[in-house]
Amino acid sequence: PAHVEQLRAQLGIRVIGADCPRPVGSLLQASFPQYVLDAVEAAGYTHPTAVQRQAWPIIMKGRDLVALAETGSGKTLAFLLPALVHVNAQPVLREGEGPLALVLAPTRELAVQIHEESVRFGHPCGVSSVCLHGGVPKAPQVLALRKAPEVVVATPGRLTELLAKKKTELSRCTYVVVDEADRMLDLGFVPQLRGLLQQMRPDRQTLMFSATWPAEVQALASTFLLPGFLLLEVGGAL
Ligand code: ADP
Ligand code: MG
Repeated sequence: PAHVEQLRAQLGIRVIGADCPRPVGSLLQASFPQYVLDAVEAAGYTHPTAVQRQAWPIIMKGRDLVALAETGSGKTLAFLLPALVHVNAQPVLREGEGPLALVLAPTRELAVQIHEESVRFGHPCGVSSVCLHGGVPKAPQVLALRKAPEVVVATPGRLTELLAKKKTELSRCTYVVVDEADRMLDLGFVPQLRGLLQQMRPDRQTLMFSATWPAEVQALASTFLLPGFLLLEVGGAL
């Protein structure tokens, strides 16, 4: 409807794809459970960003999504808060089972940052998180994986290695985020990323975040997201 289009224009966002839910007006409209609202309130965040206002209702409906938005627009919480809800809706993990949600990031620094947010918001929600990246010994990561964390934040290289060594597995993983997909491309991780996504359950929800939309990232999205995925563009990123 026209008023929803007008609202999107005001927020500086554009959506491509069918049956997109309207952006939420506030955090309270995002249909998050109280424990998520409490965690956000504890962080002192009162107003969702534009990408959060449109991404939350899309992701909470279980839709696949590509969101294009520049750095600093609040993409991390756009995918992390729905991840916490998704995780808490699943049957409890048993020993030896891999994560329920996976976030892939191109660099150690980014993985660590996302993991820190995941701990800050996940801990009060009863969700545990482990970070896997190269440049450090594997043993502590292997030990942390034995505690069956619900969320794994990983770089593609280290996760591929640990999967090959059977230190974790992805049979329960139904929520997958590819963050900074364009940097994955720049750093040459696309083949590894393809290898990982290929071995994951087809009934997962897949979300991809990027600042730009080069052909190779489009190809990645069309191969690994459901055909009905929504494309959300924030602030003229396209
Ligand atoms: P991006 O991934 O788009 O570069 P981040 O998710 O890292 O951006 O967010 C940038 C900063 O804004 C972070 O410090 C984050 O904690 C903060 N932030 C995220 N959402 C909100 C919000 N709704 N209100 C205020 N600050 C926010
Ligand atoms: Mg980010």
